[in-house]
Amino acid sequence: MNFDRILIRYGEMALKGKNRRLFERKLQNHLYKKLKPFPKAKVEKTQGRMFVLLNGEDPQRVMDTCQKIFGIHSLSFAVKVEKEEEDMKEAAMLAFQDAHNAKTFKISSKRIDKNYPVSSQDLNPILGGHILRNTEGVTVDVHNPDVEIKVEVRQDAVYVTAQDHPGAGGLPSGTTGKSLLMLSGGIDSPVAGYLTMKRGVALEAIHFHSPPYTSERAKQKVIELAEKLSDFGDSVKVHVVPFTAIQQKIAREMPEGYSMTIMRRMMMRISEQVAEKQGLLSITTGESLGQVASQTMESMNTINEVTNYPVIRPLVAMDKLDIIDVAKKIDTYDISIRPYEDCCTVFVPKAPKTKPTRENANYYESSSDFTEDIEKAIDESYIIEAHHGKVVQEEDEFEGLF
Ligand code: ATP
Ligand code: MG
Repeated sequence: MNFDRILIRYGEMALKGKNRRLFERKLQNHLYKKLKPFPKAKVEKTQGRMFVLLNGEDPQRVMDTCQKIFGIHSLSFAVKVEKEEEDMKEAAMLAFQDAHNAKTFKISSKRIDKNYPVSSQDLNPILGGHILRNTEGVTVDVHNPDVEIKVEVRQDAVYVTAQDHPGAGGLPSGTTGKSLLMLSGGIDSPVAGYLTMKRGVALEAIHFHSPPYTSERAKQKVIELAEKLSDFGDSVKVHVVPFTAIQQKIAREMPEGYSMTIMRRMMMRISEQVAEKQGLLSITTGESLGQVASQTMESMNTINEVTNYPVIRPLVAMDKLDIIDVAKKIDTYDISIRPYEDCCTVFVPKAPKTKPTRENANYYESSSDFTEDIEKAIDESYIIEAHHGKVVQEEDEFEGLF
């Protein structure tokens, strides 16, 4: 006997009416998408819970996959058997064995089909006795067991459910709105994107690209990062913005100490316009406090002045080592550390101002007009859609660029 299904629990928060339907639909969509490598597996929704029916697919591999999907609180292997004592005993044993190191257990039976002749009180010792007789060094503990095995005698069959495995938590991506992720090729911004997605946010990404100072490979890296993020929810399209002209103008016309700050303000202005055009209600960045010159409180204040969009910065509360841990866990770290230059490292001044002010930034910017440059950059930007490891060109005229 083997497990034939996985029970998915998600009803943790008060989800009502329309929210619940959206939540369930998104969760179901993400399950379908992630379970594509397991073509026989089917998703079934019944009265407030969801099952993945394995139909012969490998239980552990499907479990590993489901454990990465946002919106699932916990999961358990389960098996449906006939209302035969021998089958039920075997299923209880299988469920017990899923908890490898359990020393104590409890059987919790529920008789929903009242026509079944054995009551739940009588069923518990029958099934528990079978486990005790066939396992060494194990005892029953009804108050605080290492593992609780649930047995439901229903009209159609008996369902035996093993221990809880933790899910990824959060909310299914696409249930709480959309944000524009400023995606560099670095370690931080993909992690920021991941954490935002975990709270149910669908993402589009924007990347500032400065050819020939930055290579096609640097851009490819960003697209691969977007693909990794797509694994956790809806697919993430990338707006690629040609940024060379603006950077050159900044280098030419702005004081060196402020070039970094002003470059970031330009990025923020462009991001806001793209977000607005796409109907996205916020901007997400990988900024953290204190890491580099551009990430002081003064710098954040000066950059933020140019937008009144909410800027989500999930990493402000995290240490670099913790950020790296997440990057490794979500498989973006090895892509991020590939050594291609990004536009900021190419143009970075030797001594960027660590304490810029709004007044100075406005004063310097007032001597040059960037409006047209910004418009041109937006006009010349293009979208790349990252789908399940495939890069799809959205606009035909860009064919041949890659
Ligand atoms: P990351 O590891 O994400 O590159 P970082 O530690 O290098 O971040 P900064 O260079 O100060 O920090 O960048 C701060 C944030 O600005 C990035 O996390 C990202 O959200 C955004 N950003 C920087 N460069 C780009 C770019 N070329 N395209 C899009 N966004 C960018
Ligand atoms: Mg960076």
